[in-house]
Amino acid sequence: MAVLKILKDGDELLRKKSREVTEITPRVLTLLDDMKDTLHKANGAGLAAPQVGVLRRIVLIEVEDGKLYEMINPEIIERSEELQHELEGCLSIPGRWGYTERPKTVTVRAMDRNGKYYTLTGTDLLARAICHETDHLDGILYSDHARMLSKKEADELFG
Ligand code: ZN
Repeated sequence: MAVLKILKDGDELLRKKSREVTEITPRVLTLLDDMKDTLHKANGAGLAAPQVGVLRRIVLIEVEDGKLYEMINPEIIERSEELQHELEGCLSIPGRWGYTERPKTVTVRAMDRNGKYYTLTGTDLLARAICHETDHLDGILYSDHARMLSKKEADELFG
């Protein structure tokens, strides 16, 4: 297991479309383990494979400590009409935050590390994380559509 380097905004790999995983190989399992170490070290809520320079459709989400979701080939299959407007950040855009508009609830279908598909419905923070991380797989960063906080606003909110 290893902590990987997280690419920062400006790196062109973050703008590429990631490819589907067709087979759960030992390499995929190692990547999942390394991404978990990297996510925990960075104290983040989610991490997508392209953020560590691997253009594969894999994301990890842990918005609740100890409850880690591994998602291979995730696809959002349902979005609520009700929206939420909340603050978001990204490990690839350190020190910045912005308000995004996201569905309040989404349902995602993804494969786990055993190659089994499952569906997960998330609300509020979990829904935001699912949208944010799956966007990474298509080269989209939240700052593309967020109202980013100025430094002054961020200082006032976070001290
Ligand atoms: Zn991100």
